[in-house]
Amino acid sequence: MQLLAIDNFINNEHVPPIHDSYFDTFEPARGAPHAKIPNSSKDDVERAYEAAAAAFPGWSKTSRAERASILYRIADLIDARREEFAQAESKDQGKPVELARIVDIPRAASNFRFFAGKILHSLEEAGDLPGVGFSYTQRMPIGVAGLISPWNLPLYLLTWKIAPCIACGNTAVCKPSEFTSLTAYLLCSVLKEAGLPAGVVNMVFGTGMGAGQAIVEHPGIPLISFTGGTVTGSKISVTSAPLFKKLSLELGGKNANIVFADCDLNLAVSTSLKSSFSNQGEICLCGSRIFVERPLYESFLKGLIEGAKALKIGDPTKKDTNMGALVSKEHWDKVVGYIELGVQEGGKIEYGGRKPSSLEGDFKNGYFLEPTIISGLTPACRTMREEIFGPVVTIYAFDTEDEAVRLANDSEYGLSCSVWTENGRRARRVAGAIQAGTVWVNTWMARDLRMPFGGMKKSGVGREGGEHSLEFYSELKTICLAD
Ligand code: NAD
Repeated sequence: MQLLAIDNFINNEHVPPIHDSYFDTFEPARGAPHAKIPNSSKDDVERAYEAAAAAFPGWSKTSRAERASILYRIADLIDARREEFAQAESKDQGKPVELARIVDIPRAASNFRFFAGKILHSLEEAGDLPGVGFSYTQRMPIGVAGLISPWNLPLYLLTWKIAPCIACGNTAVCKPSEFTSLTAYLLCSVLKEAGLPAGVVNMVFGTGMGAGQAIVEHPGIPLISFTGGTVTGSKISVTSAPLFKKLSLELGGKNANIVFADCDLNLAVSTSLKSSFSNQGEICLCGSRIFVERPLYESFLKGLIEGAKALKIGDPTKKDTNMGALVSKEHWDKVVGYIELGVQEGGKIEYGGRKPSSLEGDFKNGYFLEPTIISGLTPACRTMREEIFGPVVTIYAFDTEDEAVRLANDSEYGLSCSVWTENGRRARRVAGAIQAGTVWVNTWMARDLRMPFGGMKKSGVGREGGEHSLEFYSELKTICLAD
């Protein structure tokens, strides 16, 4: 079978990698190669950097209105090609196409629309100091940014970086995950069609150790926005520190989902099914540690198991499929390894744990895994402490509010948390005590792009979103005019 071959995108042109090296990427639902991806090297990164550096002086001087109008056009073009993007995202990543249709792709378009509006309407500071002078700030673009993204929400997370980066007048060298390059590739044609000048956004495809590392090491790239695993984030910090790069790190999580006995049980169960198993549990914000107040434990667990049984797993192109395939064989092995570890650590599999038996045809070779619920573990177990990043949750009963907060905070991560209660005072108390960048009360995954987003502890460094993205993607200068 002829595989789709993609190329790098540099200076608004599709160019093959300099050393003509490619690797296959797999379709997770069928476990078979479906595209050839450039295995870009340091030389390709250099070429992309040169294009981005050459484009910077012109782009950084464009008006905010000009930049915003291009961003709005990009958003409209993504919307117009939503189905094509959704199909590509699903084929490449394994997720249900319906999820890509309603979450990934529209949210990618709204990233551009939001930052177009944000840059148009944001105002810098100014202050009068009578008898001394008048000060004001000027927001300056920084230069060429390195934007490195993961495979779980490929287009959504890449555009979360590209949109504010170019809205602020920077240019970029982007590297999507080697597992999911297709929608980034489709985006290139959208950028060009929207009128983005050559060199403003360059896309270099390849591995983390190859192209990714070369971007981080490049002395001409002063800022890096990275979303991915905590171990990679740590390596990037070490490489960047002597170069004094501006870094934004959005890293892993092991998020708590705290369910109090006074919650709306139906809503807590139906939303917890989503926070546990959406996108096969491959969302950094998934609530993989479920803590339930003891009086509600049995009925919550029963509801969760019934809900998990009803989820349809298989052909990601079917509209009613709830769960697709995990992104790769390696990742499937890792997640299954954690389920085995959970059993060794004394856990009981309440539901799931295996490859579904209902798969037919080519899908039998896909990386599918049942939604899995494990009980009986203690919070010290590795299964309850390490990020699994798959459709696996642990469930544990607690007795008091203090204990729930202690359990939730007993983690080296601090990305997000959901709290389920109908008691408003408790909601405020618990939300205030939780060590996580985002706390949802009676909901999950609701996003307001004006709000800061990021993690505490090993879940990240810095915040993006709204004003915080402008802070990251620009330098603020204070200018003082004497009276
Ligand atoms: P990863 O760290 O393996 O890879 C992320 C990206 O970094 C990829 O593009 C990869 O090629 C690149 N990379 C790898 N090594 C590199 C290096 N040495 N230098 C430069 N780039 C390098 O992560 P992943 O497996 O793609 O994604 C899953 C992880 O991402 C999970 O831990 C998940 O929690 C996290 N994540 C976090 C958020 C967030 O907002 N906090 C969002 C999504 C995913």
